[in-house]
Amino acid sequence: MTYKIILLGPQGSGKGTQAQILSKKLNVPALAMGQLLRDEVAAGSDVGLKVDGILKSGNLVSDEVAAEVLQARLSRPDAVNGYVLDGYPRNLKQYAAFTFDAPTHVIVIEVPREESLRRLGGRLTCSSCGAVASTKDGAKEGDACACGGKFVRRDDDTEAAINRRLDIYDNDTTPMLGKFEEKGVLVRVDGVGSVEEVRERIMEKLAI
Ligand SMILES: [Zn+2]
Repeated sequence: MTYKIILLGPQGSGKGTQAQILSKKLNVPALAMGQLLRDEVAAGSDVGLKVDGILKSGNLVSDEVAAEVLQARLSRPDAVNGYVLDGYPRNLKQYAAFTFDAPTHVIVIEVPREESLRRLGGRLTCSSCGAVASTKDGAKEGDACACGGKFVRRDDDTEAAINRRLDIYDNDTTPMLGKFEEKGVLVRVDGVGSVEEVRERIMEKLAI
């Protein structure tokens, strides 16, 4: 069985954590678009040079160029047996550009808005490696990360900013889910509970 998984969910759903868990369990790469773009720039490939030019001119990478980067990444040997794609595509335009591969499962981790706000309100992010911790678990601003960096509160983790991102998810991502539902690959998972509980629900739905 090949698992080509897209993992979606609103901010604060814990999908990044679950993507890492699934990646290890299935021995396939966990991919996120932001990192793919940075990797491609660092590699200096043709499309990487294109991305670099777009970003340096202060523009956003178009859905077509992002799709080009993703297609190149999925053709690499380690992704031949599957992948866990974290948070992409996230709207109908990106969905329309994602023509070169077919996911076997699109897992949506569902959490109510109050839960996202509660989780993200206490979120601290490592300024070096991007790892997250929560003040609800006793972490404090300035704490050291295992990588040697420090945990900080991001400017975009204010309640207003979080609400704006959740609105974008409701308006842009939710309508796209219907497309995957029509294809019979959509899997909805309740995201309320511990990382371990959500992990078990996902494994159960995937029958792994
Ligand atoms: Zn770190």
